[in-house]
Amino acid sequence: MADEDALSREYEQVTQMLDALDTAIAERDTAKARATATARAVGRQLERLGYLARIVGIPFDRELARRLYWDYPDLLVSEIAHPMGAHVSSVAREMGNGAVERPCGGACGRIITWQVSSRTDARKQARLCPECSAELEARRAQRFAEWQVERVRGSEDDRQMLREALERGGEPRRYAEFPGVPGTWAVDENGVPLVLID
Ligand SMILES: [Zn+2]
Repeated sequence: MADEDALSREYEQVTQMLDALDTAIAERDTAKARATATARAVGRQLERLGYLARIVGIPFDRELARRLYWDYPDLLVSEIAHPMGAHVSSVAREMGNGAVERPCGGACGRIITWQVSSRTDARKQARLCPECSAELEARRAQRFAEWQVERVRGSEDDRQMLREALERGGEPRRYAEFPGVPGTWAVDENGVPLVLID
């Protein structure tokens, strides 16, 4: 029972944290919409540049084309194909494989590079550098160990306090539905604290 109560408190905690996540997602969606609008503006500018490059007779800058293709997944392939004077279906072949450089998804701020063979791969979520990845795993293991220790210690303390209270002839306070309030315990129908029942 005590464990079930603790579990429902964990559920409550998740629900509250989801509210915060909703806010963060809404902010990200707004920023994403702004990035998309800016990408379309770049696309229109590339179109103008493409027309002029054709009139002047100078091929579109290949280095820039590669950068647009691999570093800016928000740009449409058609927007890159136009100034190149290439067909959309041939752009991928011309670009070959790419190296994607992004800040590590952890907190180290290192720029990490990985090889990608498609723009879909390049668009994937930020990656962690090997150090941050190892650190995250270690932190998870540490937090789990701490949580387990805390949980065992918490219930041991409860048992000890209740035993002492009963030995002194006192009556343990009855259970109250105040998550996290010390000194309240779930009791059975006889008023015996559940934590003392093996
Ligand atoms: Zn890192």
